[in-house]
Amino acid sequence: MSAAYPSRNVSPAQVAERLRSEKRVLAVSHEAPDGDALGCLSAFLLMCERLGIPGEGFIPGESGIPPEYLFLPRVKDVLRGDPPALPASTTVYFLDCSSLLRSNAHKFPEDVVRVNIDHHGDNPGYGEYNLVDPAAASTTAILYEIFKAGDFPIDDEVATGLYVGLVTDTGRFQYSNTTPEAHRLAAELQECGVDVAWVYRQVYESTPLPKLLLLERALRHLEVRLGGALAVSWLSNDDFVQAGADEGHAEGLIDTLRRINGVRVAVLVRERKTESGVQTKVSLRSTDGSLNVAELAHKRGGGGHIRAAGFTSDDEVGSVLAWIESEVGAAL
Ligand code: 5GP
Ligand code: MN
Repeated sequence: MSAAYPSRNVSPAQVAERLRSEKRVLAVSHEAPDGDALGCLSAFLLMCERLGIPGEGFIPGESGIPPEYLFLPRVKDVLRGDPPALPASTTVYFLDCSSLLRSNAHKFPEDVVRVNIDHHGDNPGYGEYNLVDPAAASTTAILYEIFKAGDFPIDDEVATGLYVGLVTDTGRFQYSNTTPEAHRLAAELQECGVDVAWVYRQVYESTPLPKLLLLERALRHLEVRLGGALAVSWLSNDDFVQAGADEGHAEGLIDTLRRINGVRVAVLVRERKTESGVQTKVSLRSTDGSLNVAELAHKRGGGGHIRAAGFTSDDEVGSVLAWIESEVGAAL
């Protein structure tokens, strides 16, 4: 995307070769990070350490990191806010970032080399080097291919980061992206030393109380519309305050809405305070794949996967929900 370099697609082996000779890296993922984004950062930065490459992680914005992922090495000290100044010869690796905007990539200097590693089908290939594989269950699955192609040492800590991306993006091996390859990868990561039951305890049984109080509020606002096909809920700024929660606690709450019998599309809209006022952040899920929610998100400048997507809006909750209801009603 930058004027300084041409853009091209590369293989896992080519990325591995490039990585081996890096002087310094910055690993970037998207705002409001999920398990794949943070699993990528952890595994990638640990692998760079093993290879003797100095590097840091960066996630744009200030919204809270979901606490269930703070156990992953290197996640606590990722840089936040605006992109950091880059020491000379730093290559920026974008991990699980479907769009330039969500990772603040457009704020990096033009002449910085960008490597774009992702599994979103709507990734436009904004890097000088692009490895985008929509068939991969998670971006960590692509990192695994890179590490294997380079014959890099995948120890238990690296494997744990990779596994967290895989287990969360596949909905614990139950969403439609749960391919035989995804199961095989889980087995291989377990052989690398992942303690599956321990990871389960960290990710799914270490829930801070404010997150459950936030869920309680989301359930109070829950409505099913369109004859039961659409589940909607929302969280106001005040809900976050009353629950003692921050934005990171909202991660995964939409999974409860999508469980409802008969629901084909689930929506959670949350308010987010910014310097310029209140924004709304929208999460969309398609349970049966009959509606492409990434296409819906694209109409509002967002993106994602066919069955999981999102966008940010300056409109208020009620008007966002009304728009979604009319779009989904027309499409289903
Ligand atoms: P979530 O609802 O969990 O925040 O995001 C679901 C999926 O949609 C993820 O793959 C995420 O990267 C993508 N997504 C969420 N919000 C946005 C957005 O504002 N822009 C784009 N391009 N993708 C988004
Ligand atoms: Mn992902």
